[in-house]
Amino acid sequence: MLFEGIVIHRIPYKERDLIVKLLLRNGLVGSFYIYGGQGGGKHHKPSSFELGHMMKILTKEQKMKLDASDIMISSEHQKLWAPVGIRHEIKSYYLMCLYFELVQKLSLHFQPGVSELENQDHEGVFSVVSNAVFYLEDSLSKQQFVPHQQFTLFMVKLLFHLGIMPDTDHCSYCQTELLENQNVVFLSSHGQFACEQCSPGPNEKGFLLRIKMGYQTKFQNYTEFLGTNFPECDKLLQYFCHQYHLRPVELKSYSLLFK
Ligand SMILES: [Zn+2]
Repeated sequence: MLFEGIVIHRIPYKERDLIVKLLLRNGLVGSFYIYGGQGGGKHHKPSSFELGHMMKILTKEQKMKLDASDIMISSEHQKLWAPVGIRHEIKSYYLMCLYFELVQKLSLHFQPGVSELENQDHEGVFSVVSNAVFYLEDSLSKQQFVPHQQFTLFMVKLLFHLGIMPDTDHCSYCQTELLENQNVVFLSSHGQFACEQCSPGPNEKGFLLRIKMGYQTKFQNYTEFLGTNFPECDKLLQYFCHQYHLRPVELKSYSLLFK
């Protein structure tokens, strides 16, 4: 079978082999065994399987499964695209790692013989992640990299594709139009906005407007997405974690990124 996807996880195995996870075009995560995948050897070949690389993999027909796992064996592979700048800028590298950590928390696994490769139900997640990595690289090459801008855009699009975007139009209690209110409040544990009359608290109108704007801004227009900041990234991440029953401390790259 032929697969295409982004390397989101890699584990060196034995002396030269690799086990990698790819976020596939259909939004599922596939695991692959790559003989000699670490590169090296007599000719010091670099590994094609670094985080963020877009790969094409042809798997062997397996008459018998190796074990109870869903690992498929690669017979041929080809690198389709690779970021150049991301690994040289530590914050952008951590940011990409955070995207991949989040994806691993929410994605379903591709099971050979069970999952259908053509099923496009989760395709949106691939589109969000691949665009996020592509325009992260783009922002570095243009020296326009702003970590909280990139992350907020990614997070808003991800929440939208997962169908867990907070309602940004109406107060969750009295249903009045939020935009008509001077002050609105964000209830992060509920993932809802409320008007000030229903729930007093700090004014989050700016946050509300940025979520709306993030939803409308295309990835390629990231430089037009202004006003983002770290506290709002934190709110979005807390909200995501709440939805998936995670604790932000479980996300290793997050603590490194927003220190
Ligand atoms: Zn209200």
